[in-house]
Amino acid sequence: MSDRLVFFDTTLRDGEQVPGCQLNTVEKIQVARQLEQLGVDVIEAGFPASSPGDFNSVVEISKAVTWPVICALTRAVESDIDSAAEALKHARYKRIHTGIGTSDEHIRYKFNSTREEILERAVAAVKYAVKQKVDDVEFYAEDAGRTDNEYLARVVEAVIRAGATVINIPDTTGYCLPDEYGAKIRYLMENIDELSSGKAILSTHCHNDLGMATANTMSGILNGARQVEVAINGVGERAGNTALEEIAMILKCHRQTIPLDFNIKTERIAAASRLVSSLMNMPIQPNKAIVGRNAFAHSSGIHQDGVLKNTQTYEIMNPKDIGLNENNIVMTARSGRAALKYRLSLLGVEADGDVLDRIYESFLKLADKKKQLTDDDILMLAGSDIAATKHIKLDSLQVTTGKGVTPIAAIRLNVANEIFEAASTGNGPLDASIKALKQIIRRDMILREMTIQTLSKGSDDVGKVHMQVENEGQLYYGFGSDTDIITAGVEAYIDCINKFKN
Ligand SMILES: [Zn+2]
Repeated sequence: MSDRLVFFDTTLRDGEQVPGCQLNTVEKIQVARQLEQLGVDVIEAGFPASSPGDFNSVVEISKAVTWPVICALTRAVESDIDSAAEALKHARYKRIHTGIGTSDEHIRYKFNSTREEILERAVAAVKYAVKQKVDDVEFYAEDAGRTDNEYLARVVEAVIRAGATVINIPDTTGYCLPDEYGAKIRYLMENIDELSSGKAILSTHCHNDLGMATANTMSGILNGARQVEVAINGVGERAGNTALEEIAMILKCHRQTIPLDFNIKTERIAAASRLVSSLMNMPIQPNKAIVGRNAFAHSSGIHQDGVLKNTQTYEIMNPKDIGLNENNIVMTARSGRAALKYRLSLLGVEADGDVLDRIYESFLKLADKKKQLTDDDILMLAGSDIAATKHIKLDSLQVTTGKGVTPIAAIRLNVANEIFEAASTGNGPLDASIKALKQIIRRDMILREMTIQTLSKGSDDVGKVHMQVENEGQLYYGFGSDTDIITAGVEAYIDCINKFKN
């Protein structure tokens, strides 16, 4: 059996399906480039048949990266496979990922079909995909976690014979126990000759609904799977996917007992994590394994003493392993344009010409307000430049507030290059500001959730606001940042409005 593990990243497909976290093509290219630097083997770039936007993203990602295989998802439908092949035209290495539901629940309720008919459709889809002259074809047996093993083995064997070389066994609902999932992988390995001979490999795809995604993926690997489908920060539908950084660091820490080769350059993990979190507007929980803010913070007195004496006392890994530099303060107002460009490129953002000029200008403004800027500050500036083309912009905001006075806000918005002004009172400064904004933007919208964070320490820090605003039954995620927390809140609200679909 091969001792190499393939990392298949689905941040841009499964991760991007999270409501409100959609990325535009420019942002997807930034993430794809970062994934390439991280050493990901396969990038799942999208589902081309689902929308013209997704199709175009797959085309542009194919042009933007060189070494990773670019993968496009399809249903077991000829027209889907046609558009995937078309979208992948520019990729250097290309893969079609096709498949169908194989659990009785899917067969009966989703397809109103029979096991025999589903088997035939699976084989036909793989044969059709093989004809598209891609480098390889991967097959997914959707809801494999709940599919009976004997039938699953028949499907897997048949699609390998039809030409698939990677077989994805997804625990779509996140229901399997690690032993159960591992046993499923082992059953397939033991009963299908093409798998034990290495002619095809099995892939894991585990969801985190019960918090077992990483455990299930590891169990899959230990029982013979040689590809893992993962996402940066574990982003993905509902409770998310298996986190790439967790699997990579588990394998690194347990090299002695699990001697598998893999391509991930773990010292690029922190940069990739920050970029995805900032572009998708998804804050990382502080205690998240590997990439959470507290993951390397040994705060209790006894621990601190131990860590100072010898970092190996309590740390099983070094912050440097994931690319966290001890001194996070990197730039000041005296840093030049070239230094900013270099720092951005280390963070995975390529900026030139006008874009670099605009980021540098806002960098100088922020450095003026806040003496020392961190990587997070710089990523935030780059992220807000992407937002510079938005339809509605905050032109100015003036707020009077305090104890014993009625908060009042005056707002000026630029809507498609026309200026609108309004003022309102409220029960607090943000309430007053949003009520003023609502006098100009008369849409059905409700603020559903809001979190405020600061990046480092000190009252002069930048405040980051994440917000969820509901419009016509749909949730939109927005982000704003400023040294003025009310301005950051209003910016986040406007960011949500700019994403409204209708
Ligand atoms: Zn999934």
